Amino acid sequence: SALTGGEADADERAVEAALRPRSLDEVIGQERVREQLSLVLQAARSRGRAADHVLLSGPPGLGKTTLAMIIAAELSAPLRLTSGPAITHAGDLAAILSGLNEGDVLFVDEIHRMSRPAEEMLYLAMEDFRVDVVIGKGPGATAIPLEIPPFTLVGATTRAGLLPGPLRDRFGFTGHLEFYGADELDEIVRRSAGLLEVETLPDGTAEIASRSRGTPRIANRLLRRVRDYAQVRADGVVTRDIARRALDLFEVDESGLDRLDRAVLDALCSRFGGGPVGLSTLAVAVGEERETVEEVAEPFLVRNGMLARTPRGRVATAAAWAHLGLDVPAPAQS
Ligand code: ADP
Repeated sequence: SALTGGEADADERAVEAALRPRSLDEVIGQERVREQLSLVLQAARSRGRAADHVLLSGPPGLGKTTLAMIIAAELSAPLRLTSGPAITHAGDLAAILSGLNEGDVLFVDEIHRMSRPAEEMLYLAMEDFRVDVVIGKGPGATAIPLEIPPFTLVGATTRAGLLPGPLRDRFGFTGHLEFYGADELDEIVRRSAGLLEVETLPDGTAEIASRSRGTPRIANRLLRRVRDYAQVRADGVVTRDIARRALDLFEVDESGLDRLDRAVLDALCSRFGGGPVGLSTLAVAVGEERETVEEVAEPFLVRNGMLARTPRGRVATAAAWAHLGLDVPAPAQS
């Protein structure tokens, strides 16, 4: 699912950087979070102090990193970037925190994946702007309190519920990012096409938007593949027909399902009568790892109302049968 996964790889991050909105006014959609953030930032600016810590939650590719960069820009403050998995020891975090200057914005992506000791150090830093640096080991170890300048932490997480309560409570503001509507995605595709100097027709961008799973990152990715197709097989203009042919070639269907999504639904319906079937059995049937099916294919199928996770296993919904063009089987007599 290279085309429809939510995560970005290294190459993609470079292109993404070029397509990122630079100010709140440039951000498309997310009206509520935008207005809330705008207020929080304006208040901080007028008080002349570091803004409250901000938590951004939502699935990959919806704009959390983009907003973190915008927060720093709107505060005219430098941004330091790190991520939960990159902080393996509390010492790593202590080094980052003690290098901050007053008013800096520290962005911690995937903040729910930080180690426990680092998390505890972060509580103290967020609340009291202090870290305890531990010197030595065992019974002779001593904690030396170190003051750090007031800073603003921006944390990003795919699910706010994954964060321990004490950490969540220390954010002054939490913004929940929602999946984007078709019109918003269309606007994002048109904006990106403009920046990439790709000529598009309205039907063409709408076609890309409708297959983008509510996710700007995916919309931008599909646009780039459609652009390739338009340049190599046509005159470079993204029309509806070109978009359809390109996305068919890359196996992204009208609902945004990719090859793996369809394989999962097909196995579930054709081989297991619609379920319930266990995750491991389903994964073997499509020749994938359990984790891949669970983390890559299922979230979208569940959100799309095609697959349900039940205590007895995975079940296909009526929408899944319809999507595959199959009749829903009559309920079994019991
Ligand atoms: P996340 O950090 O949530 O995974 P990113 O902030 O990296 O997502 O966004 C992924 C891509 O989508 C970026 O290229 C960004 O420019 C684009 N994008 C995200 N949200 C918007 C938006 N509201 N308007 C325009 N482009 C957006």
